[in-house]
Amino acid sequence: MKQRSPGLEALREYTRPVPRLAVPGSHSALQILLGAREEGLEAILVATRAQFEAIYSRFPWLYTRVVLLDSWKELATRRVVSELRGLETILVPHGSLVEYVGPDNLLDLELPMLGNRFLLPIEASWEEKMRLIEEAGIPTPRRIRSPGEATGPVIVKLPGAKGGRGYRIALPGELEHVLSEIEKLGYKRDEVIIQEFLVGVRLYAHYFASPVMGRVELLGMDQRLESNIDGLARLPPGIASRLGLEPSFTVVANTPMVARESLLAKILRYGDAFAEAVERRTGYPMTGPFSLEGVVTDDLEYRVFEFSGRIVAGTNVYTGQQTPYAALYWEEPMYMGRRIARELRLAAERRQLEKIIT
Ligand code: AMP
Repeated sequence: MKQRSPGLEALREYTRPVPRLAVPGSHSALQILLGAREEGLEAILVATRAQFEAIYSRFPWLYTRVVLLDSWKELATRRVVSELRGLETILVPHGSLVEYVGPDNLLDLELPMLGNRFLLPIEASWEEKMRLIEEAGIPTPRRIRSPGEATGPVIVKLPGAKGGRGYRIALPGELEHVLSEIEKLGYKRDEVIIQEFLVGVRLYAHYFASPVMGRVELLGMDQRLESNIDGLARLPPGIASRLGLEPSFTVVANTPMVARESLLAKILRYGDAFAEAVERRTGYPMTGPFSLEGVVTDDLEYRVFEFSGRIVAGTNVYTGQQTPYAALYWEEPMYMGRRIARELRLAAERRQLEKIIT
């Protein structure tokens, strides 16, 4: 049965012709704020005092008002929710918000949210997350359910969107030891996922699912620069193991990317298939930004190890610019932050807001 959507219920009270955007100050806030400005939408920045002072106070022309928090958990309190509702805002969630506020708090938040909030519990569990990708018919890395099943290098991932912090790579013989070390850190075995470590080129594809235009747009791609794994590759062979250096996957930066054109057949198809799988599973359409994250192997298979159901920080590489793929759909500069604002504006003008929020 379709779950009730607290955001759709809150939306019924709104009377402004075009709602305001509530943008949480971190992650990709600057490009969302800029996009809102370019589309003539009013943006309300929601930020912790510390982040506001360090970053966002320098760009006061990007928002019309600030809601300051002492800590991110405050966002889910009655005071902040009613302030944001009073301002008739639609919240644009991103990965940092999910990490700071928690998926359960966001799921119940009585505030209209851009996108499909029912993906939040799916994303919080590796089991559910990978099942959804498989349901979409998208190839994934082989899953290792017990140490004996590993035949080559594997990656062991911790739960939650931690930007790859604490992940481990192991050979089959080391896996039992690595798992016991992870248990000592307080994680349960069934919370971690073990996948075949894919060797190839990483490719993070950015999509925008648009109920207003009736299509899933491929807007861009990026590759992450991760510390220290990307630095290890620069050491002569053997040095890392002599020094006892373990690889880590802390995202530091992103670079733009384009794929060879023939790969687009798969990349475009997987975007559509993912959006369809989300709608089948949750009963609500996939709306707004999402990303498929994977590796293209030497047989040109795109195998997806992870998805994000909202804007990824890799889209920041195109802030303020046209992207090579967005140019195929839109004649003016169109990057993810602006695409969000465009959808909101078009949906409001066509009285279709209920199609794009939950
Ligand atoms: P994730 O948290 O799933 O986005 O993974 C963080 C990083 O780990 C990715 O950006 C990749 O560099 C790496 N990674 C994750 N899964 C795999 C995999 N199955 N094979 C190779 N590298 C991976």
